[in-house]
Amino acid sequence: MAKRYARKLIGPQIELVPMCPKCRGSIYWSMYGGREGQRAGAYCSNNASATRVIIDPDNMITCQWEGYVVRNKNGAVDVFSIDGCAVPHKVVRYKRPAK
Ligand SMILES: [Zn+2]
Repeated sequence: MAKRYARKLIGPQIELVPMCPKCRGSIYWSMYGGREGQRAGAYCSNNASATRVIIDPDNMITCQWEGYVVRNKNGAVDVFSIDGCAVPHKVVRYKRPAK
């Protein structure tokens, strides 16, 4: 069973980033306000409508996933699929320069 994280930020070097439940791609959204409960559309980075540079059209992945984001009371956003299910997260590690 997948581990569930209550906090998105675990520590200074590790962050949980929402990912597309279909293709594990990054999720893009744009929200211009900061009010709690505000919603905005979200799209997979592999969606054909996402702005990107096409490097290799033969190996291009297209993903139809769509969802939305909701501003939570902490000022961060929660990401959901269009059916209301929360999306999974992937762990991203940041490399820090040695002191
Ligand atoms: Zn996707």
